[in-house]
Amino acid sequence: MGKIHIMDEWLSNKIAAGEVVERPASVVKELVENAIDAGSTQIEVFLEEAGLAKIQVTDNGSGMDEEDAMKSFARHATSKIVNEHDLFRIRTLGFRGEALASIASVSKIHLKTFDGTSGIDIVLEGGQLKERHAAPSRRGTDMTVSQLFFNTPARLKYMKTIQTELGHTIDLMNRLALCNPDIAFKLMHYDQLLLQTNGRGNVQQVLASIYGIQNAKKMIRFEGASNDYRISGYATLPEVTRASKNYMSIFVNGRWVKHFLAQKAIVDAYHTFLPIERFPIVVLFVEGDPYLTDVNVHPAKHQIRLSKETELMELVQRTIREAIRAVHRVPEAVKPQ
Ligand code: ADP
Ligand code: MG
Repeated sequence: MGKIHIMDEWLSNKIAAGEVVERPASVVKELVENAIDAGSTQIEVFLEEAGLAKIQVTDNGSGMDEEDAMKSFARHATSKIVNEHDLFRIRTLGFRGEALASIASVSKIHLKTFDGTSGIDIVLEGGQLKERHAAPSRRGTDMTVSQLFFNTPARLKYMKTIQTELGHTIDLMNRLALCNPDIAFKLMHYDQLLLQTNGRGNVQQVLASIYGIQNAKKMIRFEGASNDYRISGYATLPEVTRASKNYMSIFVNGRWVKHFLAQKAIVDAYHTFLPIERFPIVVLFVEGDPYLTDVNVHPAKHQIRLSKETELMELVQRTIREAIRAVHRVPEAVKPQ
């Protein structure tokens, strides 16, 4: 008799959860990205104990009908890609169809959703259906994830302090708000308001809600294009700096990415204007054909493979440098001395 057997779905979901659901911020990311993909214009997130006790995400997006809502917790259940061709033209934030199955396997979930004609109100525990109530009548989705990692004590033990876990979620929500200025976001921890944007489509207003009005005022807009890429964004004048590189946020086709080369290109753009070990606050939006950007590198999709990277880095450096020089030269030239 052979020794190999195929794992049951429950076990494979729990293993996948180990990759996708690292901490409360990962759950917030998956739920809010689903809300964005569903076309929401208002997304509210309420947390208790930095999300370990409770994460509630309410949106006014498409909602799901009864059949889809039941299917959505199955592994590889997605409405976002159908075939291999789609994999190379990804426009949505999700596509793996893994998140809800993974999250459900390590938490308790209360899902209320309604698509305008049909909906559902269910409670799941460790992925198993426990309760069913009458469907809501408000279009959109309300998903509450509680007791995260209740059945994976090892992972729970690994969690850092409330402040650290909360910090991860705040960073995440800031980034999502920056690249979705037309969505009104609200993030609350108990009754403490941590982020609120108005959804009026103005990136500068989002920058002001995150970094303060004074800093946002000291940011200049830049814009440029090469053969394959278009870039735009905001960068602080050299007098506003931070001790960490984390204030340089890079978005490729609406998705936040970690991109060390792009951060280096930004710093190089400032050349000698920056004090040593100080970094600017920058938001950089890159748009290019999805064929040039492979997001299917890691389940959390934070890494990305870019074709024609050198062309893009030169574009970033040149565009930001010119924007800073344009502003910086003028006052120097007119200064009486
Ligand atoms: P993916 O986002 O990769 O498709 P998920 O497991 O995150 O996979 O979600 C599964 C499916 O459930 C989605 O493809 C979508 O159809 C549906 N879904 C999840 N959250 C929402 C939501 N807030 N509003 C509408 N549909 C949703
Ligand atoms: Mg998803």
